[in-house]
Amino acid sequence: MFKQDEQFAHELDQQDELKHFKNEFYINDNHIYMDGNSLGLMSKRAEQSLHNVTEAWKNYAIGGWMSGDHPWFYLSEDLGKRIAPLVGGKPEEVIVTGSTTTNLHQLVSSFYQPEEGRTKILADELNFPSDIYALQSQLKLHGYDPDEHLVRVKSRDGRTIEEDDIIAAMTDDVALVILPTVLYRSGQLLNIEKLTKAAHERGIPIGFDGCHSVGVIPHNFHNAGVDFAYWCHYKYVNSGPGGVAGLFVHEKHFGKTPGLTGWFGSDKEKQFDMEHTFTPAEDAGAYQIGTPHVLSVAPLIGSLELFEEAGIENIREKSLHKTGYLMYLVEEFLGDYGFTIGNPKEDERRGGHVCLEHDEAASICKALKDYDVTPDFRSPNVIRLAPVAFYVTYHDVYRTVQILKEIMENKIYKKYKNERDVIA
Ligand SMILES: *Cc1c(COP(=O)(O)O)cnc(C)c1O
Repeated sequence: MFKQDEQFAHELDQQDELKHFKNEFYINDNHIYMDGNSLGLMSKRAEQSLHNVTEAWKNYAIGGWMSGDHPWFYLSEDLGKRIAPLVGGKPEEVIVTGSTTTNLHQLVSSFYQPEEGRTKILADELNFPSDIYALQSQLKLHGYDPDEHLVRVKSRDGRTIEEDDIIAAMTDDVALVILPTVLYRSGQLLNIEKLTKAAHERGIPIGFDGCHSVGVIPHNFHNAGVDFAYWCHYKYVNSGPGGVAGLFVHEKHFGKTPGLTGWFGSDKEKQFDMEHTFTPAEDAGAYQIGTPHVLSVAPLIGSLELFEEAGIENIREKSLHKTGYLMYLVEEFLGDYGFTIGNPKEDERRGGHVCLEHDEAASICKALKDYDVTPDFRSPNVIRLAPVAFYVTYHDVYRTVQILKEIMENKIYKKYKNERDVIA
């Protein structure tokens, strides 16, 4: 159980076996960074590995493809093997490539195989816009009207999606299901095992967007039988702005030719034969298209060391405890100020951030920034706060709530316009 006083926050920090990781990150002493769910902080290891890759370019030039500590030719596969434990995939089922949205395009191109009477794609109405845009354009490329063929499961409360409603929508005309692991706004964690089982009982392939869970929640994609998944690394995996993304394809699908092909998807032994007949890699590597973005993947090499040292199970345990503490403090101190906790409260149904709803959310976020707290606003009324296990202390969580109390009590938020900035 939690206690209200500041001393208790310090005690929790003293007992935190992950507390030394904060020194691995760049953050000013008084700054509280609650936005690791949008862009994780830079670590010293990530900076070092980025530097090492530019040195390899300097020293080896084209030789860097095969020389140095991390030969670029094998880098995407090597990093896929290291991400695999975070998502519960076999080493050969994961590849580091592309961006979230381009990976979704690749996977839909490969797994959406409409046939007579089975043409629809099932998603949800709270899904991230980029995923929806990608699905709409994929339907158009097949000659289908997205208004009719993209089915979006409705939310009952505007925050969460009921698994039973999703399953009820898995009808005979559905050819593919695409869902988030964690909903980006409310932070609801869906039951991946249950949804995968239900889809497969109906003969429908299913894929997940792991942007809001990879690096904060352990997954079990292989054992759950998930057909495919895709995610970014710049949020909870701290790989830097625009860092190269990842994807998982279950081994039961190995040997298929992907929908979008390019030479980096080749069997590596054959790639430089330069034949005009494509021989795909036998594993998830086949889903790569062109030359890897080596400079944008470099920070991941160092960042992953921290996950390997801390262990994703420990990270999840700490994250749950910190979000639990944050919710407790919100209820204790902010009860009078019109906040609603929009995320599910059960451990097995919530992700790595707390979703605070308030009519004045935009102006409250601006006020927080002037107090040296970085929150994350999502239109129209959501403040997302992610107490990331690696670099947000219990005392930071305590201080954030005290600052929020001051902003509300003294109506400091009224000094700001309740409108979002260009990026929010
Ligand atoms: C962050 C995020 C994206 C971003 O896609 P990019 O291609 O990396 O820009 C897509 N989907 C979800 C659910 C996200 O959270």
